Order: sequence, then structure tokens, then C-alpha cells
Amino acid sequence: MYTVIKRLEISAAHSLQLSYPSKCTTLHGHNWIITIYCRSHELNADGMVTDFSHIKEQVAGKLDHRNLNDVLPFNPTAENIARWVCEQVEHCYRVEVQESEGNTAIYEKEED
Ligand SMILES: [Zn+2]
Repeated sequence: MYTVIKRLEISAAHSLQLSYPSKCTTLHGHNWIITIYCRSHELNADGMVTDFSHIKEQVAGKLDHRNLNDVLPFNPTAENIARWVCEQVEHCYRVEVQESEGNTAIYEKEED
């Protein structure tokens, strides 16, 4: 089994729709740190699980320097972002989304 881990830093804004009063409902920004884990039993024809630069394109290319409410079709919580990233990247099984120091959400695919 091969594993690759890609760490990205993204600057992006969001505002959250919440069922309780919170300053997070106002538009604000974070320097997000997104860590993406991919694994595969077999390497592709290029000898890789997934090209690091393709992961960056698929995630940072869509999210960096954007208002996440404009580019994602759901309430952009760290948890929802982690699931979305996992769905975008081939062979991805785990994503950590650090919104700010000390605040991290993790999404992991269930075992097949
Ligand atoms: Zn926030």
C-alpha cells in the first residue's frame, strides 16, 4: 500500500449559516491548512498514487483567494469542506482542515 500526503495553505473567506447567534455568520477569512491523504495498492503508469500538483490544482485551484460561499454548494464549515475535498481527489481517504490554530476538522471515508 502506498500513501501520499499533500499539505496546502489556502487563503479564503466564508460566512456560516448557523442555528445559533455567532460571529461566524459574518463574512470573515482564514488561512486554511488542508492536509490530504491518498493511498492506493497500485501505482499508476507514472509511478504515482496521485500527482501532488494535480491535488493542488483540484483543491487550491478552486478555493484559494475565493469566497467559499460562492464556489461551494453547501454551508462551508470546516467539516463540510473536508468531505468535499475528499470527494474531489482520486484515492483520497482522509482530509484534515485546519481553520485556525487549534481548530481542525477531519473527514475520513468509511472502510469499504
Ligand atoms: Zn470561519
